Amino acid sequence: MSPDSTYSDGRIAADDLPAPYDGPRPQDALPELFIQDGYANDDPRLWVPLAPGRWSRPLCLNVSNGYWVHLTKVVGGGMLSRHRHPAPVHGFVIKGRWRYLERDWIAEAGSYLYEPPGDIHTLVVEPDCDEMITLFHNTGALIYCDEDGNTVGTTDVFDRVDACRKHFTEVGLGADYVEQFIR
Ligand code: FE
Repeated sequence: MSPDSTYSDGRIAADDLPAPYDGPRPQDALPELFIQDGYANDDPRLWVPLAPGRWSRPLCLNVSNGYWVHLTKVVGGGMLSRHRHPAPVHGFVIKGRWRYLERDWIAEAGSYLYEPPGDIHTLVVEPDCDEMITLFHNTGALIYCDEDGNTVGTTDVFDRVDACRKHFTEVGLGADYVEQFIR
């Protein structure tokens, strides 16, 4: 590469980029998963209903590492669930706002959250929030709890795959539609 193709700060000029990498790659690497469309203008059939006013749109259903990345959408407000996680959760709010009954902060668009394993919390969307959309990266499971912390139900990535497969079949996208989100 000629010195003329770089800026003084080391960047390479956009019209003088190298050829795409075409060298050796790890032979066991999985194919990437890229979703082009955004959350706002997508096909409503991609949103898997969880309960009245609540949907989950799968982005990555990782059965080999036991996690799932998805968009949660809530319309109309209400309490979603009281739950515990056995592994970390990462969340990023895209639209609207929500809170945990156990905290004094409010998660709004642009907020990031790390939930440590073991924390028990109750997710609430206030009724004045027209629509909430948050990206969650859940590892392991959601463990639903009663008011004493006893387990009353669970969900994991395999449940999520099953729910997506059932929904995509019902809306005409086909049972195989979920395969693109699985790694
Ligand atoms: Fe949580």
